[in-house]
Amino acid sequence: MATKKSNTIKLKFDSARNLAPAPESKSAAKIDPRYDLFINGKFEKPLSKKYFGTINPATEEKLSEVAEANQADVNRAVKAARAAYDNVWKKMPAKERAKYIYRIARMIQERAREFAIIESLDGGKPIRESRDFDVPTAANHFFYYAGWADKLEYAFPNRTTQPLGVAGQIIPWNFPLLMAAWKIAPALATGNTVVLKPAETTPLTALKLAEIIQEADLPPGVVNIITGAGATGAAIVNHPDINKIAFTGSTDVGKIIQRAIAGTNKKATLELGGKAANIIFDDAPLDQAVEGVINGIFFNQGHVCCAGSRLYVQESVFKEVVRKLKDRMETMIVGDPLDKNTDIGAINSRQQLETINKYLKIGQQEGAEMYQSSCSIPRKGFFCRPTIFTNVAQSNRIAQEEIFGPVLAIQSFRTDDEVIEKANNTPFGLSAGVWTDKGSKIFNMTTKLRAGVVWANTFNKFDPTSPFGGYKESGYGREGGLHGLAAYVNIV
Ligand code: NAP
Ligand code: MG
Repeated sequence: MATKKSNTIKLKFDSARNLAPAPESKSAAKIDPRYDLFINGKFEKPLSKKYFGTINPATEEKLSEVAEANQADVNRAVKAARAAYDNVWKKMPAKERAKYIYRIARMIQERAREFAIIESLDGGKPIRESRDFDVPTAANHFFYYAGWADKLEYAFPNRTTQPLGVAGQIIPWNFPLLMAAWKIAPALATGNTVVLKPAETTPLTALKLAEIIQEADLPPGVVNIITGAGATGAAIVNHPDINKIAFTGSTDVGKIIQRAIAGTNKKATLELGGKAANIIFDDAPLDQAVEGVINGIFFNQGHVCCAGSRLYVQESVFKEVVRKLKDRMETMIVGDPLDKNTDIGAINSRQQLETINKYLKIGQQEGAEMYQSSCSIPRKGFFCRPTIFTNVAQSNRIAQEEIFGPVLAIQSFRTDDEVIEKANNTPFGLSAGVWTDKGSKIFNMTTKLRAGVVWANTFNKFDPTSPFGGYKESGYGREGGLHGLAAYVNIV
């Protein structure tokens, strides 16, 4: 008698959490093989005649190629932005401007799934994050600033505001769409026009945003999106007809920009690097704190300017916290960014993976003890296991320099004064986190930590209504909230 063949489908279960693969479909996203420059409301071939590829860092496969804007292309974009400013945008009643910004917000929501997939494909971040954080927060920024456009007299009572003119905006690769929204929305709400350059490795969602801007029928030239490398960014910074530079990126490039605009009357906001301290007191709810630390350092592979990349744990709970952290790290899934179960996706580029690996070596050479989770990682693409270092000295480079990867440096402390001194002892001052049961301790810490944002019993929370920015080498100026409006106007 013939035995009946079993038709059970064999599923490959993930070893860490026994979850079957749950990949998002690539077919919901349309990526053209080539993108031109978005200038004056149209996609224009670059005068440079040059293009460069952008890859999926999880597979190393080419996704598309984008134009490389040279000086002449930057000139064209700035000219379009100036004409749109003079002839259309600054004259338009604010409530009309607001309608366009609302329209962009709604269109991002309508195409949210496509944006999330492309963000994960081009940059490597887990789809759960691009779907639940990047894309909705980007839409929220447009909604929020659309609301302010015709209410500037309430934002700045008894004062009159004037737009600055043409804003040059340069953004990094860690939150490509969200950074574009952070920059474009307040600029438009206050009556400025824009030339924006996304980062070399993640240009696609900005170009998709250009498609939306075109469909939204924004007057030509109000927003121009041009792709290219550092030289394109420098050409924007140095262009004489730019009135404001809004830059998010590394402290090194921030310093170059500061030097370049010294002696000009260009305004600037610089959102630069960070090395945030996450501080756990012995009275904190430890499981909740450990979750916060995990989110603080492993969110977006640690490619976060405000990542909690240093952890200070009060001595009496040090061992317990480190044990809990290791246990939690073991459950994390590193792999395909498009899988809905993935916790840590791909490192954004080969170059960034090399930087992270360099710091892993430096940390060990400095005498710190490295621990990595035992999870499997894909053989192709750029991946890094979640990593922590203990036995870290305050002077160690892994405790002082921004690594921009899933790497946490852990130290202990005994007293409040000691941890305040240690937390403040870096060149940066972007963010910090405090975990304690005592409200008085929270107030004491938040007033003494030199960081633009201090989270209490939570971490990495963002909202368009809340200003964000740094002290010291983390830059100056604020984005988000009312402060974000002030950065785009002259107040008279
Ligand atoms: P980056 O190398 O400074 O690049 C940022 C942007 O500047 C990119 O578009 C880049 O183009 C461009 N650029 C490079 N050289 C330039 C020059 N000489 N003049 C003008 N523009 C130039 O930084 P990244 O590595 O992309 O991003 C990571 C850094 O951003 C980290 O340090 C992180 O902390 C920081 N960040 C800060 C915040 C914040 O809000 N404070 C937020 C996110 C990220 P290419 O892409 O072609 O290099
Ligand atoms: Mg890419």
